[in-house]
Amino acid sequence: MHYKVVEIKPGVTLLRDRDTNIYVVEGKTSALVVDSGYGFFDLKSQIEEITRKPIIAVCTHGHIDHAFGGHHFDAIHMSRKELPIYRKHDKFKKYILENHAPDVKVLSREALEEWYRAKPKRIEFIEPGDLLDIGENTLEIVSLRGHTPGSIGILDRKHRILFSGDGLCNYIWMQLPESSYLSEYYEILNSLSAYEEDFDFICNGHSHEPLPVAFINDMKATINDLFEGAQGKPYNNPNASGWHYVKNGCEIMYQLDKIKKP
Ligand SMILES: [Zn+2]
Repeated sequence: MHYKVVEIKPGVTLLRDRDTNIYVVEGKTSALVVDSGYGFFDLKSQIEEITRKPIIAVCTHGHIDHAFGGHHFDAIHMSRKELPIYRKHDKFKKYILENHAPDVKVLSREALEEWYRAKPKRIEFIEPGDLLDIGENTLEIVSLRGHTPGSIGILDRKHRILFSGDGLCNYIWMQLPESSYLSEYYEILNSLSAYEEDFDFICNGHSHEPLPVAFINDMKATINDLFEGAQGKPYNNPNASGWHYVKNGCEIMYQLDKIKKP
């Protein structure tokens, strides 16, 4: 199998797909899958080794490393606001196909072409406030708008975890054209205080270890520095250049003209 499997706690499993995290939360009647990774490999068979229950697959946002394994499921759920980004990311799919990127060399040409052609059978829309009942556990969708316009988190009060994708992580990309102003994102972080009694950990899209809930304050302090004029360093990335600021292990990529919304 191509996924590294880690039990976070009983009923919650992490599958690592290259550098991206996929989580499986098992309920009494069904299982929730948070994000689908790139989808190069047989995700469904891997999940069936963990649970045989019917799957509800949710993508925290439409980026390629979170949503492009969607074809392994009957349907994926994501915010309607993510559709333009999801469609735009097809160009990265094409890039991977045409260049047969070194980290997918393990795939045959045929398998890569099959991946390129694969599409989810159905996309269903979910929005903040929606509830997902998997049996003896009802999870709530919360807004993590910032990294992308329709980024969502999934609040699992039973396991006291907020699954956050890229919407809340210790290396956050806010420099993208689709990212909000930092001041708008700060308001979203403030809105999470309504749930502060409900979770202890943030299981995000890329880091190996969950973040403690106190990380939200670290993120706010880091953004506050930028509000007060702190200067980062240039961040050079062929797909997503911008500026890079770090404080207490909390790293933000951003644009100088998208700090405070006028
Ligand atoms: Zn992303």
